[in-house]
Amino acid sequence: MKYLSTRDPAVSVTAAQAIVRGISAEGGLFLPESIPSVTPDELRELCALSYVERAERILAPYLSDFSAEELADCVRGAYGAQFAAKEIAPLAQLDENTHMLELFHGPTCAFKDMALQLLPRLLTVSAKKTGAGELVILVATSGDTGKAALEGFRDVPGTRVLVFYPSEGVSPMQRLQMVTQEGGNVGVCAVRGNFDDAQTGVKEIFTDGAVLAKLAERSLAFSSANSINWGRLAPQIAYYFSAYCDLVNIGSIRLGDKINFVVPTGNFGNILAAYYAREMGLPIGKLICASNQNRVLTDFLQSGTYNARRSFFTTISPSMDILISSNLERLLFLLSGKDTRRLADWMRSLRDNGEYTVPPLLRTKLQELFWAGSCGEEDTRAAITRTWRDNAYLCDPHTAVGVDVLRQYRAATGDTATAVVAATASPFKFVTPVLEALGYVPPAGDDEFSLAERLAAETAQPCPSGLLALRGKPVLFPSVCSKGDMRGALWSLPGGYVGARHDVPLPPRYFS
Ligand SMILES: *Cc1c(COP(=O)(O)O)cnc(C)c1O
Repeated sequence: MKYLSTRDPAVSVTAAQAIVRGISAEGGLFLPESIPSVTPDELRELCALSYVERAERILAPYLSDFSAEELADCVRGAYGAQFAAKEIAPLAQLDENTHMLELFHGPTCAFKDMALQLLPRLLTVSAKKTGAGELVILVATSGDTGKAALEGFRDVPGTRVLVFYPSEGVSPMQRLQMVTQEGGNVGVCAVRGNFDDAQTGVKEIFTDGAVLAKLAERSLAFSSANSINWGRLAPQIAYYFSAYCDLVNIGSIRLGDKINFVVPTGNFGNILAAYYAREMGLPIGKLICASNQNRVLTDFLQSGTYNARRSFFTTISPSMDILISSNLERLLFLLSGKDTRRLADWMRSLRDNGEYTVPPLLRTKLQELFWAGSCGEEDTRAAITRTWRDNAYLCDPHTAVGVDVLRQYRAATGDTATAVVAATASPFKFVTPVLEALGYVPPAGDDEFSLAERLAAETAQPCPSGLLALRGKPVLFPSVCSKGDMRGALWSLPGGYVGARHDVPLPPRYFS
């Protein structure tokens, strides 16, 4: 399988090259030249398999330059004992025709682990194949990617990882997860600004000639762990197939029945993976795109105009606080007949004017595939309250946005087909809003861990051990920089400073 770029028709690379580079030199995103298909018979076979085996089958045609053995090693290593659920991505039933696909049982308690436990392994194999030197993984995070990347890449030989997060844009638990990160090849820095500032800064560093030259002098090269990297997206396709098979196995649907997926969306990575599953032949009716108060995607899918010039809201579902949704570029490329010129024009218009409009025909295609809805703060809280009261199911705020948008979809369309909501994070990562939605007013001054214990006691649900283990850990990364200083942070950040030799452990005092 060869990979194309969304912005340059001359680009053609292998999967390994696409994964190592992360983003194409001219700024386009890589994507496979064709979409492999899964026949109904193959789907039936998948139903008899474990999660690991399903993932191997789904990924194999995308990673045709990997040997079966290499792929098996990567996948088995990724989905092992570090997941708290042996099914890896189990379903939980909410009501008669609604199921939750729990993607948060990995080490950092968000769905990002589903990809970021696998990506470092794919990247290590890819780096060997392409002869890449040491890789610097630059990450912009809206909260969950950062920790999942740090955990996935910590002490992986031949890599260093540097994470930028918005100083005011993450939950206290998300921040604690990152600033206490251990490992000899990691760095973390807060950026004064929002996620879009961090993401734009990282994209600029990626293509800055002077920075690239300085890296090359030291035999270092950039790669990305954001969902702009195809190696982040591909692993996510597998769980849509897996959820479908599980529904067949428990008798909720028959093989061939169409189901709807609801995806709490920010950067459009997770829902794009669902689109790929649909194009591969998974019987999916609608892909329901759920946004929070930052409803740029809802407006786009409804109107055909993408307009990022609007107020940015900091919400209780911070991992979806995004106005520039990177992976939409891949979808538009596919739906516009792989027209690199038009894509480049739209992306230039987005950068220069903050907006672009797609032609009516393309808007119609989008609306056949997707239904979009958004959910404000009060409705998010109400959805947490309701699912707990009526279904005894505890949602985190991101998942609650999905649950509420599904309610809106059913009310608007009357389509009551079986639906699966992607449950993207553990409620214990967002204890304050979840406790408040349950009617508990946290006393001022209670720390995150007391609150987590309180939530566990109120709901008789266990707090994930990975979160409890953060209690008392020293803050190793207190640094905050401005947008303009991100390049500087690259060279000077404790632990993450890329000039350091990977195999020399830094003395603990270095961090203080
Ligand atoms: C990242 C994230 C999302 C948004 O996913 P995208 O792939 O960026 O659309 C939703 N919920 C949670 C908890 C996340 O961490």
